[in-house]
Amino acid sequence: MKRILCTALMLGLFLAPAFARQNANVDYESVYKIKDEGFNNSEVMDIAWNLTDRIGPRLTGSTGLKNAYDWTSATMKEWGLKNVKIEAWGDFGKGWDVEKSYMAMTKPYYQAMIGIPKAWTPGTNGLMKLEVVYIEMEDESDLDEYKGQLGGKAVMLPTTIEAKTTFEADARRFTDDQLDDMKNYNVRSGSGWSAARIAEYRKRANMRRKAYSFFKSEGVAVVLNTHRGGGQGTFFTSNGSRNDDSALPEVEMAPEHYNRLVRLVEKGEPVEIEVDTKTRFLTEDLKGYNVIGEIPGSDPALKNEVVMLGAHLDSWFAGTGATDNAAGSAAMMEAIRILKESGVQLKRTVRIALWSGEEQGLHGSRNYVKNTFMKNDLPNNEHGNVSAYYNMDNGTGAIRGIYLQGNEAARPLFEEWFKPFHELGAQTITIRNTGGTDHLAFDGVGIPGFQFVQDPIDYGTRTHHTNMDLYERLQEADLKKNAVIIASMVMQTANMDQKMARKPKVFENLNR
Ligand SMILES: [Zn+2]
Repeated sequence: MKRILCTALMLGLFLAPAFARQNANVDYESVYKIKDEGFNNSEVMDIAWNLTDRIGPRLTGSTGLKNAYDWTSATMKEWGLKNVKIEAWGDFGKGWDVEKSYMAMTKPYYQAMIGIPKAWTPGTNGLMKLEVVYIEMEDESDLDEYKGQLGGKAVMLPTTIEAKTTFEADARRFTDDQLDDMKNYNVRSGSGWSAARIAEYRKRANMRRKAYSFFKSEGVAVVLNTHRGGGQGTFFTSNGSRNDDSALPEVEMAPEHYNRLVRLVEKGEPVEIEVDTKTRFLTEDLKGYNVIGEIPGSDPALKNEVVMLGAHLDSWFAGTGATDNAAGSAAMMEAIRILKESGVQLKRTVRIALWSGEEQGLHGSRNYVKNTFMKNDLPNNEHGNVSAYYNMDNGTGAIRGIYLQGNEAARPLFEEWFKPFHELGAQTITIRNTGGTDHLAFDGVGIPGFQFVQDPIDYGTRTHHTNMDLYERLQEADLKKNAVIIASMVMQTANMDQKMARKPKVFENLNR
């Protein structure tokens, strides 16, 4: 026993550094080929243009996303990828298209207004001229005052969104100090939300629910709404209740236009609006899909192992989902195109996945992982064959490094692999987790899943989920850089002697 332990320790001592060195070696010749293809023959902006201007918004279940499935899969086939398919991941539910959206203030004078239907709400069934009522509500009992007064009217809910002028730039890159903070970050836990904040959030959500059912029973014609942030014509869209068949027509508006109606009503001016919206529910095909494609591995012993890269193809619908997430989809498609076109060696199979249903809760990636790598909620044999998954979903900004997602063992690899990109400003390796997107589907079942540190640009202020998430917001130089870096990371991972180190096992029995 002792001797075995001793030998194991010695092996560990000698093998561990050798293991790291062997796997971490930068393959400069392949990196050079990748840079050459990615910087001199880039197609990333053409891919992004197709996804945004040409195909348009890609809400899950919509006609736009179906068109995107078709175009991305056809393009992957054209590039010579193998096993390309549009693969159902399970039931998503009904789709929804906007077919008409018009709104204006008609009293006290005429003014066009910026607003569109909230997702999965019905249209108005023709042009309506409506008196506007602003609901003042601290508590649900305040609704009693409005009994019998709301039938056939447009109602507005209280909001605290001010949309004031800001004196900071909308867009920014990370400073060296901010990147250093990330490098020196220690793993922490906790959501950062205080109990009081959670209680306040719940109270508001509950009040809103009560208000909506009151509006329904009162026969309200249209609900008007606005959401966080934005300003200067930018507004954020939000999820409607997809399965509520009795939802009222609802329009989400730019905060300045919303607030203007509120101020007029509060000062006692009679306010009237015109609304004409038409939406269509798609009930023929309730399934959700992912688009998958592969470059088969060249090494007979390793080609059954897989390195994955992906991004969500679905978007919100007020803009064209340019930075969220045509940017990620285009960078990932371009990365696999570069790998194919440059002819670099890839020992393991490289597989791209473009997800759907991300915006409604990571449905595409979570179900893919469940269907492909799990059986009865436990890892299947395929689970052991996945080396790593790389995701991009932080907008258009340049990659500045990578979130290790708590996987300390991956640090020496990325420290080496990022060396050819230091001159491009990408060298921050942080132990931090980042959340909110599809790498979590992999990370959650013990498969190494990574997201990159990206410059925020104007993601939080102007683009993410907004009506202004359009082609102009894409940064060409950043997207080219990102595709090259991602292609390089995938190439290095595909050619390692071993698979990517995993975090301590989250399952007791990984062999089942
Ligand atoms: Zn996204």
